[in-house]
Amino acid sequence: MGGKCPHRSVRKRRYSHKTHRRSKFEVKGDDIVYNDLLKPDANRKPLPLDEDLPGMGQYYCLHCDRYFSNVAVRDEHFKSKRHKKRLKIMLGPAPHTQLDAELAAGMGMPDNGPKLMSM
Ligand SMILES: [Zn+2]
Repeated sequence: MGGKCPHRSVRKRRYSHKTHRRSKFEVKGDDIVYNDLLKPDANRKPLPLDEDLPGMGQYYCLHCDRYFSNVAVRDEHFKSKRHKKRLKIMLGPAPHTQLDAELAAGMGMPDNGPKLMSM
């Protein structure tokens, strides 16, 4: 018996092990972050001080929903592949939303052809 990794014992194999582990760290759904980004700057509250968060919650990446302990770490993150990938997703067409899910389940609005960008 090898048993290299305890997380592999699950029967469902929908994701690769790596993808499954990665998904644990993506807290918010893409659609929620996307909607946050669509809000004008005036509506964004100043970051509240939070002792529980790294750097008192002052260094935040909106795209990735992550907090950083200082500005250097955050800037480093902005340069990272992971952040750029995320940024690309957010700049692209709207990600999967709850409405899509309801439509797929046969609920909500009737399908009137291709969706327009304005929601
Ligand atoms: Zn980021």
